[in-house]
Amino acid sequence: MFSRPDQAQFLPLEQMQVLLQTLEAQGYQCQGPTPENGAIVMREIHSANGLPRALQAEQTPGHYRLTRDPRNRYFAWANGPQAIKPHVFAAQESLWQVRRDEQGKLQFEAVMPNVPPVAIIGVRACDLAALALQDAQFLREGRRDAQYAQRRERLFLVAVQCAEPAATCFCASTGDGPTPTGGYDLSLAELAEGFVIVSGSDKGQAVLDALDLAPATREQIDAARQQGQATAAAQTRSLPGRNLRDTLMRNLEHPRWDEVAARCLACGNCTAVCPTCFCHAEVDVPALDGETSQHERIWDSCFGEAHGHLHGFNVRSDIRSRYRQWLTHKLATWHDQFGRSGCVGCGRCIAWCPVGIDLTEEAAALTELSDQPAPRPASASGGGE
Ligand code: SF4
Ligand code: SF4
Repeated sequence: MFSRPDQAQFLPLEQMQVLLQTLEAQGYQCQGPTPENGAIVMREIHSANGLPRALQAEQTPGHYRLTRDPRNRYFAWANGPQAIKPHVFAAQESLWQVRRDEQGKLQFEAVMPNVPPVAIIGVRACDLAALALQDAQFLREGRRDAQYAQRRERLFLVAVQCAEPAATCFCASTGDGPTPTGGYDLSLAELAEGFVIVSGSDKGQAVLDALDLAPATREQIDAARQQGQATAAAQTRSLPGRNLRDTLMRNLEHPRWDEVAARCLACGNCTAVCPTCFCHAEVDVPALDGETSQHERIWDSCFGEAHGHLHGFNVRSDIRSRYRQWLTHKLATWHDQFGRSGCVGCGRCIAWCPVGIDLTEEAAALTELSDQPAPRPASASGGGE
């Protein structure tokens, strides 16, 4: 957000409500962070009073708890279980339906999501990086997903620089945070008296113009920049490298896979909260009268037993092979598929794992040096889940 400091403006704290009103006036439904059942989730909001001001999210392996923020900030919570993913890749939706017409012939038609333009308030840098990866999957050349594309086109993203990392965050080591560097419409850096704000798109600039703000001062811009640097320095977790592909693929028989499998419940929590996981199942749901049927897409997980079924046998019949599939796709073969790791360092899979399995700890143990050569992929575009 500091690539164009001359264009940074300043939004006083008391004008947060004006930002929400401006977004609504420009036709957006505002989805903002809201405390619910002990966690920060995204819900429709109309007032800045609904934002989780003075709340922090304490996170450690297998642990998430909201606590008070002594600095009374709006965005002191690092993240919640939801990222942007559910707003573009719905947990369950119909893709197409079929009905029998009066001549008895089957008629197929696409089902498109009926969603308004949505402004998401409080998007983190790791979530923007994850969205870019979801785009690479769902909007790829020749395989553009119509439902995803429609939801994506209607998104307006208000990013926020992280100033209070959770103990589970490691976005600095993946290169994805904590300061948003692109992919947003507006980006905020919260200071004691207000926000340094910049636009990153024409849509964002239209909102910024309507706010009619004063330019940010040099001191405010420097304070925001230093805040981002301090947040990165405060992160205590990291991955042992940005490209672990070859090392992990050399260690497919490492004894650590057995150790982690003995702890893993194969519950799939990690894949549900992960902002980059995109596995899904497709099922047909016929109406009881036999006249219509819906073809639905539902989030799936590589930790599920059914996920490994292939024509009469199961390629991943035990938890060891499922955990290995998840970690080696995320940190190794994702490089073959998308040119980078599938982990953006959000730490959600660590906090929301009921037995506290820590991806950074497992990656460190599993990348101990091995002399065996790493297998190469059969095709650069294949692989993965
Ligand atoms: S790693 Fe944790 S969250 Fe993931 S499936 Fe295993 S027990 Fe569940
Ligand atoms: S693997 Fe874990 S830390 Fe990495 S992006 Fe997914 S949920 Fe976040």
